[in-house]
Amino acid sequence: MAAYINPDLHSHSTFSDGVLTPEEVAARARANGVDLWALTDHDGLSGQERAVAAARAQSLDYLTGVEVSVTWADTTVHVVGLGVDPANTALIAGLDQTRSGRDTRARDMAAKLEQLTGLNGLYEAALQYAGNREAIARPHFARLLVDRGLCKNMQTAFSKYLRDGGPAFVPHRWATLADALSWITGAGGLAILAHPARYRFKHAQEGALIDEFKRLGGRGIEVTTGSHTAAEAVHYATVARENSLLASRGSDFHATGEGRADIGTLPALPADLPTVWDALASHIRHAP
Ligand code: AMP
Ligand code: MN
Ligand code: MN
Ligand code: MN
Repeated sequence: MAAYINPDLHSHSTFSDGVLTPEEVAARARANGVDLWALTDHDGLSGQERAVAAARAQSLDYLTGVEVSVTWADTTVHVVGLGVDPANTALIAGLDQTRSGRDTRARDMAAKLEQLTGLNGLYEAALQYAGNREAIARPHFARLLVDRGLCKNMQTAFSKYLRDGGPAFVPHRWATLADALSWITGAGGLAILAHPARYRFKHAQEGALIDEFKRLGGRGIEVTTGSHTAAEAVHYATVARENSLLASRGSDFHATGEGRADIGTLPALPADLPTVWDALASHIRHAP
């Protein structure tokens, strides 16, 4: 089994809300010393073919990936699927269905932002930021607000307008947890609870989420991610041990200089934790 030193198993490209193409993300991963990479665009697999080819070109080992948007207890929760078969028809259909509400939601978000800011044409303007219009997402609006000078950075755009429950937020029903897990596991993949600290659940509710996630076939949890502080990584290492969940590590890279961790720059996982990449060894596409 290859002993990976710098796996990065959570990242985004222009196929969802990232700013770089799959080829550019692969090159940056390689330059930063990543030795096993997964591109995990939101709710879609259309970037996977290019990511597989880009990984080969950069001599990176690769796992196919996707990040599925889920609604659980009226909260948006993200589940990463790694090692999925990108040709699996049930997974593709499920992701198509999950993406399908994004356009109407984006139009509603634009209308709210127009009311709040007095600007016009924000839906069309945001689309200019979306490499894949089916994947139109809040970061596209956030980048637009920054470029128009309304917010000084992405974080401000979220805290001022776009955050969950914020003035320009449009509530949305994503996939159910049960569907997301059945699509991922049905496509031969391993399901991982993404950036758990981001949900701000109370202890008992987080426990209920993890219990249900495991009961439905979920196997992993992100411990070290660009969304976690060092203290949160320590906490979720304990959660992984207590729940016998496999640990994952991924930057959640979206763009250079956008605040979260750069790809391939996270600290290592605690050495005692069983990892998702060891469990997925037979799914890894090895670079020639
Ligand atoms: P959406 O899928 O349209 O709800 O957008 C969610 C995406 O917004 C996430 O995948 C992140 O890329 C980004 N995001 C969420 N919260 C924040 C935040 N506070 N600051 C910056 N980006 C965020
Ligand atoms: Mn994102
Ligand atoms: Mn996420
Ligand atoms: Mn992500």
